[in-house]
Amino acid sequence: MTDDVKPEPATTRSASRVLVVEDEPAIRDVVATALRYQGHVVNEIGDGTQALAMATDSSFDLIVLDVMLPGLDGFEVCRQLRDRGRFCPVLFLTARDQTEHRIQGFVAGGDDYLTKPFSVDELTLRVAAILRRIGRDGSPEVLTVDDLVLEVAAKQVRRAGHDIELSPTEFRLLHYLMINAGIVLSKTQILVNVWDYDYDGSDNVVELYIGYLRRKIDKDRTTLIHTRRGHGYVLRQPDR
Ligand code: CA
Repeated sequence: MTDDVKPEPATTRSASRVLVVEDEPAIRDVVATALRYQGHVVNEIGDGTQALAMATDSSFDLIVLDVMLPGLDGFEVCRQLRDRGRFCPVLFLTARDQTEHRIQGFVAGGDDYLTKPFSVDELTLRVAAILRRIGRDGSPEVLTVDDLVLEVAAKQVRRAGHDIELSPTEFRLLHYLMINAGIVLSKTQILVNVWDYDYDGSDNVVELYIGYLRRKIDKDRTTLIHTRRGHGYVLRQPDR
């Protein structure tokens, strides 16, 4: 080995997906820009109803959620998300005189809140703390369901200790199924999260790729990938 081997750049870590919900364009822009600068993949929206739809259909690592919003307010967006089984952490943005006690009651688990006006440093520190708590701080991620193991950074998959070769699309699909293990995912959800937003082909492609994955993951073994007819697919621990 020569010493011209460069250390891995920080950008090779897996980026976190953050949804920024804020109706005031100037604040939204500052927040989104700061988070992109930190290396996160950021989606922005200025309306509560649209935010709820987006956060239901797509999986985010964190939602930065303004409380006062057109459409649905931030609390309502969060409540309905939890009702839909989406437990992604939320960082609320709230005005100083705004219902401090209400927000205390709302902030649970990995959630947090920031009072306006806040500094960009304060924001990025809070975001980093939340992502660290949920294990999305860039450390290598290893997902395990039963005897199936997926290493995100190494792009490696093993079942019962045997390496499984997957194409990039198969790998993304398996990753998405594993981070949502136990949750039934519709074809549309899978299509939006695994293929590009602007993919305009048929959703038969999901069925096709689930078939490929099954042949590689489940063949001659206990079934992990299940079909819920009329609902979608779920990867889960086998019943014992
Ligand atoms: Ca607002």
